[in-house]
Amino acid sequence: GGQRESKVRVRAHFDYNPETDPYIPCKEAGLAFQRGDILHIVSQDDAYWWQARKESERTARAGLIPSRALQERRIIHERSQMETNDADSKKNDDFDREMIATYEEVAKLYPRPGVYRPVVLIGAPGVGRNELRRRLVARDPEKFRSPVPYTTRPIRTGEVAGREYIFVARDKMEADIAAGKFIEHGEYKGHLYGTSGESVKSIVNAGCVCVLSPHYQAIKALRTVQTKPFIIHIKPPEFDVLKKSRTESRAKSTFDESNARGFTDDEFNDMLKSAERIDFLYGHFFDEVIMNDDLLTAFEQLMNVVQRLENEPLWAPAAWVQ
Ligand code: 5GP
Repeated sequence: GGQRESKVRVRAHFDYNPETDPYIPCKEAGLAFQRGDILHIVSQDDAYWWQARKESERTARAGLIPSRALQERRIIHERSQMETNDADSKKNDDFDREMIATYEEVAKLYPRPGVYRPVVLIGAPGVGRNELRRRLVARDPEKFRSPVPYTTRPIRTGEVAGREYIFVARDKMEADIAAGKFIEHGEYKGHLYGTSGESVKSIVNAGCVCVLSPHYQAIKALRTVQTKPFIIHIKPPEFDVLKKSRTESRAKSTFDESNARGFTDDEFNDMLKSAERIDFLYGHFFDEVIMNDDLLTAFEQLMNVVQRLENEPLWAPAAWVQ
């Protein structure tokens, strides 16, 4: 004995099953895990096979898992196979996924009184992330706040500058985007829209919970040590449940106003496809997943998650923990 266990914890960014791994020297010694699992790396002595146990099974014996180096090699190999097989199946934002590591080192991030991590709701359009954000702010506007977005479109009657949007000239907004002042931005019907990093910071500095519901591509810009976001995937339920729940809530007219005209089957299918794609690209970044099969239940779950965020130490990238 005498050998000390390493203290390293990682979040797995891929699923692993030793039963189907042709390389593992002994399948019985392997440890199966899923993407998102927190693993305690007990030993990194071997270059190819680490010993680990799941953080959720702390009394279990350690098992073999591929080392970072081995898994990286495997991914590079699989990708080269894929590229030769069907070269044009590669979509633009698959690049995001290529960037990801195999394991991400994590540590417990302790809540600090009066300083709240921004809550970021990610989801396919129509699943209800904006509605959940609005409800959170409506429940306690002193505590939960969303930044006022910027836009280059003209102000409409009934709107107040600084309330619905901060209205700016296009060349000014383009320059600010180029200078990296926006955590996310997009174009809609010829006008720019976006959320500034400064507005997120000022909400956090005011001691409030900043609630965001950006396009999923904003994850990359948001997931920094400065922002320390808590990222939640708002997922749709399976087709039948999705369709039923949206039809019923429409009848009661309590659901998202954007659903006033209702959804077609094609749109439900698009939602499901989009949710799957979001999970494929960013699943390893989600701190929590909430299924929005019923708006009120999903909202209660969201409130519980936010409560935990305030009271419990939670796993976060090790670099965020000083
Ligand atoms: P409207 O001009 O009708 O107020 O909004 C048009 C579109 O702009 C909506 O689909 C809305 O989701 C989008 N939008 C509003 N704020 C933002 C923002 O901060 N960022 C992005 N990317 N889109 C926004």
